[in-house]
Amino acid sequence: MSKVYNWQLGREMEYPYDAAFPDRQFAFVFNLNRCIGCQSCTMACKSTWTFSKGQEHMWWNNVETKPYGGYPHHWDVKLLSLLEQSNPGGQTWNGQPADVKAPYGQFKGRTVFEAATTHISPEGAQRALGYLPTDEEWASPNRFEDNPSGSEKGHRGQLAFSSGANTPQHKTWFFYLARLCNHCSYPACLAACPRNAIYKRPEDGIVLVDQERCRGYRKCMEACPYKKTLYRGTTRTSEKCIGCFPRVEGRDPDGGGIPMQTRCMAACVGHIRLQGLVQMNADGSWKEDRQHPLYYLVHVAKVALPLYPQFGTEPNGYYIPPRWVPRPYLRQMFGPGVDAAVERYSNPDRELLAVLQLFGKDARMCFRYEIKEGPKVFENSIRGRKFELFDDTVIGYGADGTKIIETKVEEPLHVRPSQHANSI
Ligand code: SF4
Ligand code: SF4
Ligand code: SF4
Repeated sequence: MSKVYNWQLGREMEYPYDAAFPDRQFAFVFNLNRCIGCQSCTMACKSTWTFSKGQEHMWWNNVETKPYGGYPHHWDVKLLSLLEQSNPGGQTWNGQPADVKAPYGQFKGRTVFEAATTHISPEGAQRALGYLPTDEEWASPNRFEDNPSGSEKGHRGQLAFSSGANTPQHKTWFFYLARLCNHCSYPACLAACPRNAIYKRPEDGIVLVDQERCRGYRKCMEACPYKKTLYRGTTRTSEKCIGCFPRVEGRDPDGGGIPMQTRCMAACVGHIRLQGLVQMNADGSWKEDRQHPLYYLVHVAKVALPLYPQFGTEPNGYYIPPRWVPRPYLRQMFGPGVDAAVERYSNPDRELLAVLQLFGKDARMCFRYEIKEGPKVFENSIRGRKFELFDDTVIGYGADGTKIIETKVEEPLHVRPSQHANSI
């Protein structure tokens, strides 16, 4: 095992290989407050990459209803239980948030790599603590869709919503968790592959399975804590999200030669997704890039948090947590940065409101933004705090510096003329 630095955990950790980072890393931010569970992202991926024989149960992108849903079933509960068994009572965080090298404090527990050194699995020695889901667990990708937690049955068995009025946290709740491969900085799939068939591209950090080398041992499926590699029976190999790399490389003709966001990102109806490439330092931390929207959301506003950072793979997918969900659940899922992130998102300042307008506005990747200040258009008190809304203009630039987005904070109101009242 090598010692590598994991900034999401605020400490060094053990990993089977030495650290190696790309110059620019594939990353994304999802705003879970806006996901409507429409599955347009899921179908965009399936219709592009996994429509062939043997891929019927393969959903590289999926959207599951939390807390009960999961694909494969209960993937996260199972992993959390395994980690807890390996370190009873010890999976905790402490320390104060510091700089970009430890923004959430320090994780004191064991990662999947560290836990594997002491865990005896039925399958033998492991490089990352994990398990192989059964066929049944992969069989129904959207089980428990729209099932809420904490529901109380009222008159004639209907849900009683009276307790749900206590915003921002509700007693009866669920939310949609959209997921794909996180193209982790310390991929467990790569660490576990006995054939060295999995590699991380130096140009963008996308993690791929070499189909020539893969022999279908499924060690990657066992090791990936997010369960994002999948087995294809017709080829007897493992497959996974390829990060739509032709689009990221700027080879999609629609992008005019500059990098585009992936299919699942560009198809998102709820405009919850923003994907891009972030610059990396030689030690794996993010290079300061103040006007990059992902850098701003993760390291400046700190509203977007990694999914289960305690697993230790340093995932490159980040989530703005849903405001109405009980905090203990969110802290377990996104780490100790949750309270500050929800607070900031619930009381957004001028810059955050402007940057949030960039989501879903253009299929090309945004590498830099600028804000032009506009007039104050609204003032009120929200949850006891003064709130001011400014109609600022936010401008986004693509990889070659061309302007790709220009949009305003206040959405324009279009009134349909009376002669077209019943037509389109
Ligand atoms: S999410 Fe899983 S499959 Fe994707 S890079 Fe991380 S460990 Fe590998
Ligand atoms: S990035 Fe591309 S390959 Fe990966 S889940 Fe999204 S659409 Fe599918
Ligand atoms: S397309 Fe967007 S809004 Fe619809 S389910 Fe996917 S992430 Fe959610």
